[in-house]
Amino acid sequence: MRIIDHHIVGHSGGGAGRTGDVFDPNTGKVQARVTLGTKADLDRAVAAAQAAQPAWAATNPQRRARVMFRFKELVEANMQSLAELLASEHGKVVADAKGDIQRGLEVVEFACGVPHVLKGEYTQGAGPGIDVYSMRQPLGIGAGITPFNFPAMIPLWMGAVATACGNAFILKPSERDPSLPVRLAELFIEAGMPEGIFQVVHGDKEMVDAILDHPAIAAVSFVGSSDIAHYVYRRGVDAGKRVQAMGGAKNHGIVMPDADLDQVVSDLAGAAFGSAGERCMALPVVVPVGDKTADALREKLIPAIDALRVGVSTDAEAHYGPVVTAQHRERIENWIQTGVDEGAELVVDGRGFKLQGHEEGFFIGPTLFDRVTPQMSAYKEEIFGPVLQIVRAPDFETALRLPSDHQYGNGVAIFTRNGHAAREFAARVNVGMVGINVPIPVPVAYHTFGGWKRSAFGDTNQHGMEGVKFWTKVKTVTQRWPDGSPDGGNAFVIPTMG
Ligand code: NAD
Repeated sequence: MRIIDHHIVGHSGGGAGRTGDVFDPNTGKVQARVTLGTKADLDRAVAAAQAAQPAWAATNPQRRARVMFRFKELVEANMQSLAELLASEHGKVVADAKGDIQRGLEVVEFACGVPHVLKGEYTQGAGPGIDVYSMRQPLGIGAGITPFNFPAMIPLWMGAVATACGNAFILKPSERDPSLPVRLAELFIEAGMPEGIFQVVHGDKEMVDAILDHPAIAAVSFVGSSDIAHYVYRRGVDAGKRVQAMGGAKNHGIVMPDADLDQVVSDLAGAAFGSAGERCMALPVVVPVGDKTADALREKLIPAIDALRVGVSTDAEAHYGPVVTAQHRERIENWIQTGVDEGAELVVDGRGFKLQGHEEGFFIGPTLFDRVTPQMSAYKEEIFGPVLQIVRAPDFETALRLPSDHQYGNGVAIFTRNGHAAREFAARVNVGMVGINVPIPVPVAYHTFGGWKRSAFGDTNQHGMEGVKFWTKVKTVTQRWPDGSPDGGNAFVIPTMG
């Protein structure tokens, strides 16, 4: 059985420690085992990071950026094999896996501009003979703890910005699809990054706790489900670290009566069912405004859902593949049952779906509910599967309140031809990322990604300037070069510029 091991400087082969199963969701078979590391493994990674980081931080930012340029070229040259590797452990179709990698590369492109964004501020003559300037310095060693659903993009959200800023970065990827992150670490080395600057440690809660408690790790960036995000945030902050912790989501798409319904249906099919709904920016809730809109939308949605093709990751015609584990499929199916028990109308039932020739794969068919209400737990909680819920709203104000009052506040979309309604919605909705006729409003790499409420703990977003702020600290220097004449000031009074 293939063992997926840490990528730690000087580490050669795991011992007799614990391992976790890594499945091929297409076949349902265990295809590899991943080493589940310990505090001792982390200590080795931290020691290597400590040895390498000062010289990396002292390397001029243009040279660090050149590593990013070369890394980007290497990933592009290896795109097909990387996407196939990713898809074989995650289950998403290969074209979507390429998108996962490409969105990560876009953050690498942003990181190529790091010399520009690290420039500080300068004030000449803040007082007589006094200048003030500030600089952004790396934190030292940072860690990233990432979820299974974007094994390329999310590690690069964190790792590209952290390392370009001069930090050493230790990644603890999801134990469900750990191979691609190791390949990223190998490609960074090939691109010229010194050993010890981008390392990978595998593991579960034991490793996460070791990271959170490690005194030499200055910052932790986490993405995953909300309860774990909250736990990571509290424990990391308690240990004196800087922490950003992104959590779960339940994104709504508001459909106004004037929306182009054919376009909405096409957007919804991709946003609700793409990647089997395993995206934190999926659109699992659609809110048509008015019963007429709801009925028309439902009528168009049913044939669109019937036309969806569920297939193996390597099927170029498939719209989406299996979910990540059998356990996750069971969880999704249980949520479907809960929806039925709570009184929602099950319009299309994806349970029990079997793909011919792949009967043991973790497949689940697309599912549609109508007449879901805000009181139902199946509405309140994240399902993270190919399940779309219609929640009917009588008017704009009710539609606006639904995502605003929901416990999650990651993304939201409005579909309309009315600029005023769109503008009002964007200004008033209590959610972090808004799409106007854009179903999955994931901001581009040079803007920032982050939800509100239980979708994010901490106050800095991922990538863009917020990412640079997270991975650096500001030092401000006040310098005085007097001309030699006595200033006659009173050194016992706090200096002011009055
Ligand atoms: P998860 O919370 O199970 O795991 C995330 C990470 O936490 C993994 O590295 C895992 O090993 C670790 N972990 C798991 N249990 C732990 C525990 N008890 N203690 C400490 N660490 C633990 O999440 P997942 O299932 O891998 O990913 C799906 C979730 O991530 C969904 O809720 C999704 O919405 C969310 N997500 C959020 C964003 C965002 O930016 N807001 C992006 C992607 C995914």
